[in-house]
Amino acid sequence: MAYVTLKNIYKFYEKSDVPAVADFNLEIKEKEFIVLVGPSGCGKSTTLRMIAGLEEISYGNLYIDGVRCNDVEPKDRNIAMVFQNYALYPHMTVFKNMAFGLKMSRVKEVKQGKNGKEVVIKRKYTKEEIWEKVLEAARILEIEEYLDRKPRQLSGGQRQRVAIGRAIVRKPKVFLMDEPLSNLDAKLRNQMRSEILLLRKKINTTFVYVTHDQVEAMTLGDRIVVMKDGFIQQIGTPSEVFDHPANLFVAGFIGTPQMNFFDAVIEKIDGKYRVFFENRHLEVRDDVSEHFDKINLGRKEIVLGIRPEHIKIVRENFPKQKGVQYFKANVIVSEMMGSELHLHVKTENNQKLVIRVQTIELSKQDRLNLEKNGSVEFTFDREVMHLFDKEKEVNLVPTKIEEDGRNGRFKSKTLLSER
Ligand code: ADP
Repeated sequence: MAYVTLKNIYKFYEKSDVPAVADFNLEIKEKEFIVLVGPSGCGKSTTLRMIAGLEEISYGNLYIDGVRCNDVEPKDRNIAMVFQNYALYPHMTVFKNMAFGLKMSRVKEVKQGKNGKEVVIKRKYTKEEIWEKVLEAARILEIEEYLDRKPRQLSGGQRQRVAIGRAIVRKPKVFLMDEPLSNLDAKLRNQMRSEILLLRKKINTTFVYVTHDQVEAMTLGDRIVVMKDGFIQQIGTPSEVFDHPANLFVAGFIGTPQMNFFDAVIEKIDGKYRVFFENRHLEVRDDVSEHFDKINLGRKEIVLGIRPEHIKIVRENFPKQKGVQYFKANVIVSEMMGSELHLHVKTENNQKLVIRVQTIELSKQDRLNLEKNGSVEFTFDREVMHLFDKEKEVNLVPTKIEEDGRNGRFKSKTLLSER
């Protein structure tokens, strides 16, 4: 087990003056599962490869267990890495693939020297030790029965397990995984995702995992690091990032279907801050209003974000109520997903949005009405409104920043989720 600290890390590839990774700051705790997530080219793999020692760090410092490791050889970092393409040796059996790293490495042993003093020697692993370690890893991954096979005689999922097996036999301090599931089909990916969660319980070490898939990030990570164009956008637990995205990019990237965005205006009227859109307005929450008062927000153009699942359509067991504002919209496309329905609608102001409805909440009559009318009325709670500065794209509702100077800019509990 190890903790890993990345301090002000930059990576400039040769002949490029745009950093692939910029000002990267992160403290990875012992046994923590960290996921780096973001679109292709945002610098995730580069960051991982710098931790592994496969890529030089241009500026900044990398510490493993408090020891600066920028110049430590990859093999001396006690780190294992699993790649997307598995990189198995095709001519070797599963056993030999898994044993290969052990055969190449040396084990440190303390012995009594001639003068009675203790000396540290480095020796090869014995055959028995290698057997024991490979079998233990094979047992953890349930691949004991394939040890004699060659990689081509295995399914994609089994090959993936061998690649992981090869990495865990050496009991690394830190386990790095670069898009390990992206070569698998959707069903197998789901299965392997839960296997990685199980593996994590079994080997209980520090993980850094790279993926472009936000679902993978949300389900696996203790904390996730959302990246874009080489820069960290937000660091937080999955729920922190989901409930309080730091900016428009994170808001749009995390969550499916994507968050809906409206152009809107925020203004203080009759002593309260209100959000104006679609010819109506909603008061913001009292604590948020107080905050806007403190910073003298005044009138501001904003982007209002609402997640599809937070929009409630009027239906038999959710009838209209007095004093609540409803919006009308025409259904353009209705996607039946089984347990849920995704309604793509257009509002009176021609704003397109997606509404996610749990099908179990709809009666037969509701479904008939939807089909017959081709329109819906909907509302949402002010609690679920996300307010972004239109120009700067940042979330206007502040995170309470805990300035410990190490855990990044957005380590936070949020005002929105506090109620
Ligand atoms: P990700 O893993 O998020 O897809 P990468 O870390 O692979 O992103 O790449 C980040 C940026 O660095 C990209 O713009 C990519 O083109 C560039 N890059 C990656 N590897 C190299 C390389 N070996 N030489 C030059 N540029 C590279």
